[in-house]
Amino acid sequence: MKIIMLGAPGAGKGTQAKKIAAKYGIPHISTGDIFRANIKNGTELGKKAKTYMDQGMLVPDDLTVDLVTDRIHKDDCKNGYVLDGFPRTIPQAEALDKALSAMNEKLDHAIEVNVPDENIVKRMSGRRACLNCGATYHVVHAPTKVENICDMCGGELILRDDDKPETVLKRLGIYHNQTKPLIDYYKEEGILTTIDGTAALEDVFKAIIAILGE
Ligand SMILES: [Zn+2]
Repeated sequence: MKIIMLGAPGAGKGTQAKKIAAKYGIPHISTGDIFRANIKNGTELGKKAKTYMDQGMLVPDDLTVDLVTDRIHKDDCKNGYVLDGFPRTIPQAEALDKALSAMNEKLDHAIEVNVPDENIVKRMSGRRACLNCGATYHVVHAPTKVENICDMCGGELILRDDDKPETVLKRLGIYHNQTKPLIDYYKEEGILTTIDGTAALEDVFKAIIAILGE
């Protein structure tokens, strides 16, 4: 079962990807993990990727595609995988399809975890982080025992810049521009399913199981 996950940052697709991987016994593959593993192991692709990352640049599409293709050829992927964070662009999606069809394979499902922007902004702006130890909380979903004081170390909690509404909205704008075309692309291929990501975590997962099968 070859699956890709689509969804805005903060929509919870990573969490669902992990649950899918655990239930179906397939690897959860995120590009961040692939980059880190290749850099750590000093592979040729890893060395190339590192030169971009060290300069604060995005790893180019063709290199990212090579890294992902290399990863999905590994033995643990023979029963499938769930790709999280890739593809991000139409050229990446086309390159992935091309690489798969060269192996006589194709994607089975593209699952979009859909959460309206305003819900994501609300979720993120409820996050709190401890200045001292880095522990994270949520004012609604994971509150501290004493308001604004870290349970672990007694440090003061803050709302990080990354979680502020203006930053979140900016990131969502970039996501929509870049990724919305992908949704149409997979709709055209007939493998797209959109799941309501505003439901509770377990209900979102149940909806996904209904698509993938028990
Ligand atoms: Zn703390």
